[in-house]
Amino acid sequence: MNILPIPAFHDNYIWLIETQAGTAIVVDPGDANAVKQRLQQRNLALSAILVTHHHPDHTGGIDELTEHYGARVIGPANSPYPNIKEKVTEGETVEIDGHSFSVLHIPGHTLDHIAFYCEEEAALFCGDTVFSGGCGRVFEGTHEQMRDSIDKLRTLPASTRLYPAHEYTESNLRFALMVEPENEALVDRVNEVQALRSRGEPTLPCLLENELQTNPFLRWDQPGVIASALEREPSAAREAVFGIIREWKNQA
Ligand code: ZN
Ligand code: FE
Repeated sequence: MNILPIPAFHDNYIWLIETQAGTAIVVDPGDANAVKQRLQQRNLALSAILVTHHHPDHTGGIDELTEHYGARVIGPANSPYPNIKEKVTEGETVEIDGHSFSVLHIPGHTLDHIAFYCEEEAALFCGDTVFSGGCGRVFEGTHEQMRDSIDKLRTLPASTRLYPAHEYTESNLRFALMVEPENEALVDRVNEVQALRSRGEPTLPCLLENELQTNPFLRWDQPGVIASALEREPSAAREAVFGIIREWKNQA
């Protein structure tokens, strides 16, 4: 299995998975043209589309791609996006051309948000829930839901590679440094990311192991993050820390 980013719009990545059968799977194709071009370049037929959630920058290219390729469209059972043909929920497994993906329901950014986890590759396609150094905005769910979803992802093997849908890493890390200025792993990650971006390279995929050391939203229960949150809201309970840093990020 070969996994490549297709850049789209300003900062989206549509992930292209080349299967062992020589077919392609794409994740969250917001833009059909970008996908078609890349499939033609690599001479691949599109077998399936995986959808993490209903937002247009993740679903906008689906109609045109299915018209052109007749691909399977697999996505959340409770999605307001109307053209999902195979509806999946937590705990289900999807088989595509010799590869298995298990489905995790991770509401918060939207209520329909799911992730696809490919165990054999230790790859997680997590849409707009976790980014490198940050997490998605909480549009439809509650902070508690988002925190529970992120806690669920924290339990995956540390060697898991995360494939989020946006290149937000640099601005996320600027905020992460405000929360944990003393975090040495974070300073190392900032340097690594600056080098990648100065060469025009993606900062993704990222390793769960590194995110656990650097991403404040995966570290909401660590002493340094709790202390920063309580500096902003001294009387807050520990359970509120995640929400405090998410609101702080919105204002930063
Ligand atoms: Zn979104
Ligand atoms: Fe998005």
